[in-house]
Amino acid sequence: MSRKVTITKRWLVNSLGVVILVLFLVVLAVSVFINTYYTSGARQYITNKMNTITGILQQYYTDSPVTFASEIHSMIENWSDRDKMELMAINSEGEIEITSSGFNISSDIIADDYYDAVENGSSGYFLGKADSGERIIAVTVMTPDKTGKYSAIRLVSSFENVHKTVRGYIIALGAVYVAIIALMFFSGMYFVNSIVRPVQQISQTAKRYAHGDFSVRILKKNNNDELGELCDIINHMADELAMSEKMKNDFMSSVSHELRTPLTAIKGWAETISAMPEDKEAIVKGMKVINTEAERLSQMVEELLDFSRIQNGKFTLNKATMDILAELGDAVLIYTEKAKRENIEIVYDEPDMLPFIYGDKNRMRQVFINIIDNAIKYSDKGGMVTIQAVQSDQGHIEIAVSDTGCGISPQDLPKIKTKFYKANHTRRGSGIGLAVADEIVTMHGGTLEIFSEEGKGTTVIITLPIQKQKQNKQGESI
Ligand code: ADP
Repeated sequence: MSRKVTITKRWLVNSLGVVILVLFLVVLAVSVFINTYYTSGARQYITNKMNTITGILQQYYTDSPVTFASEIHSMIENWSDRDKMELMAINSEGEIEITSSGFNISSDIIADDYYDAVENGSSGYFLGKADSGERIIAVTVMTPDKTGKYSAIRLVSSFENVHKTVRGYIIALGAVYVAIIALMFFSGMYFVNSIVRPVQQISQTAKRYAHGDFSVRILKKNNNDELGELCDIINHMADELAMSEKMKNDFMSSVSHELRTPLTAIKGWAETISAMPEDKEAIVKGMKVINTEAERLSQMVEELLDFSRIQNGKFTLNKATMDILAELGDAVLIYTEKAKRENIEIVYDEPDMLPFIYGDKNRMRQVFINIIDNAIKYSDKGGMVTIQAVQSDQGHIEIAVSDTGCGISPQDLPKIKTKFYKANHTRRGSGIGLAVADEIVTMHGGTLEIFSEEGKGTTVIITLPIQKQKQNKQGESI
């Protein structure tokens, strides 16, 4: 079953269903109220009329029982409300003797009101369909002369008009009820669909992402609501996933390439040496190349291992009070020869002393090596790499490595600290050196910032906090 059906159903049952039920109960209650109001009004009216009549009859009977029957007769004949209701007198046999309508009515129109009145000896009331099929309201009262010619007096009125009025109201209420429900249903369905459709689109798109296809994006219809925001986030996520997928692929290919180059050199020289065991010069040269390339391979593997430790959260530091200048000096020394070979000038005006920091000296040296290596690697012959180390303020040391190399484009600059990101594919490298360096500096409570101008050069500034206490002039912890 699809999600759309579930949400729609849930809305139908939980929301619309409740409204339908509550509204139905309200309509029912109002209908009952209207019916009761009109019915009791009619009953009240006819009962009041009858009370007036019985009051007069009682008076007649008390004044002169002998002329009682003729009084009733004339009363019925002169009945002024004949257009609204019919007044009739019934004999002790239960037959209508005389009626204000003047017609000779057969006895079968007598209804329950009469029988009730006879039974309880005073009065009876009836509301319902007469034998003729017409709706009537009737009241019968036994006269004081119960054994006389007119034993009971009956008032009958048609209830059809009242019934029609009540029915009209109830039908109107029902129509309003149906209209409200229809309106709610259609507006609700429109609203539910406005949620369900984008959600369906999102889930279909997410399924494609799950299968590794990051090319699709969600088309937004409504920009301003929460769903629009969700679409933006998912589209952004897809951009990120696509980029990291691309970086992963780039990384795989650059690492394979990086591994292949030294391996080819090692294999080539190994073959040459074994083919010419007598050629001492070739052996010395070959062994040198094999050594350098093996060194390069092992550095790369170390870098990859560091990276994997960072990813697994297993990257730890061996911190102690340390002299940052010693490590920086070492790193500069390592590259002096290489820079000379590539005709790149390294300018390093080493300061006499800087405050100590609390850190891992091997890792810090690794950071400097990486940054200086990049500065040389991305510079051309004749370039210059300038290294400076200063105390920037009361609490920090700043190390800046600037080069006059190819620089980094403004689009690439924010991403180069990201793992696997390579802005320049013309030079060797796995794209994780800066990510590792940044992580190490961050773990020391410092920052690694990169400023660059394409074609002009790059400056990397590492800021590290000075160790606050626990230091003396010899750099020993107190
Ligand atoms: P890589 O092994 O590719 O050098 P890094 O993580 O050290 O990886 O650097 C990431 C990317 O940043 C490089 O591919 C390069 O494009 C850019 N980069 C780093 N340092 C410099 C620099 N000094 N000059 C120009 N580009 C640089």
